[in-house]
Amino acid sequence: MDIASPRKPLIAANWKMFKTPAEACAYADALLPLVAGHVRDEIAVCPTFLALASFAESVKGSNVLAGAQDMHPEKEGAYTGEISAPMLKAVGVTHVILGHSERRHYNHESDWDVNRKLLAALKQGMTPIVCIGEVQEEREEGRTNDVLLRQLKIGLDGIRPEDAGPIVIAYEPIWAIGSGQSASPGIAEETHAFIRDAVRERLGDAVADGMRILYGGSVKPSNTAFLLAQPEIDGALVGGASLDPHSFADIVKY
Ligand code: PEP
Repeated sequence: MDIASPRKPLIAANWKMFKTPAEACAYADALLPLVAGHVRDEIAVCPTFLALASFAESVKGSNVLAGAQDMHPEKEGAYTGEISAPMLKAVGVTHVILGHSERRHYNHESDWDVNRKLLAALKQGMTPIVCIGEVQEEREEGRTNDVLLRQLKIGLDGIRPEDAGPIVIAYEPIWAIGSGQSASPGIAEETHAFIRDAVRERLGDAVADGMRILYGGSVKPSNTAFLLAQPEIDGALVGGASLDPHSFADIVKY
């Protein structure tokens, strides 16, 4: 990203359904010395719900923050199997991924579900990472911008500019996730610029200029620098390559 940019990059790890609590603690022990003193970027790691409390405890007081991969929009209630924002906050979780494409696909989460969660996360003072992105077919048919606009329009519905500061958008082209082949820096840059313009139209200049837009989709140590050199790319959401602490540390320190 641009050196003059006011946006502090965020490098976030999405572990998906990997690692036990013990493995999460071992990861924290390995990662912390590798990124000690690193202040250029904000660093967040999102383990499973089960491993979150022990991971958050392991990184307490360090420059590594704990994030969740999802949350329920209600504070509490008869929602079997769900976890709320106050519960996450109670164990030291600060960030939360919302609307990841795997949840949209396997759990049938809609743009309106994402919107409800986003409003709740902001109310609870969390840093939401809202994932948007198109499938291969939509890109090939020239529908990428329409898809992103719909996800943003509904996802950001009812958000006031004065409340939007903490929102992070993660542009994750679904065709690039887990494929080993990231979007080219050019495609990512162009799409991020489109997203920022869409945010500008809805929430104004100050929000758009301050909003961090991460790229996600097969980020690895070898392509991070190329992607993050783009002025519109303000960090990365990393899946597979975040599972090894050395690989994730290399990405953080690109
Ligand atoms: C993700 O799941 O958010 C992701 C970007 O995965 P990967 O880095 O493995 O493509």
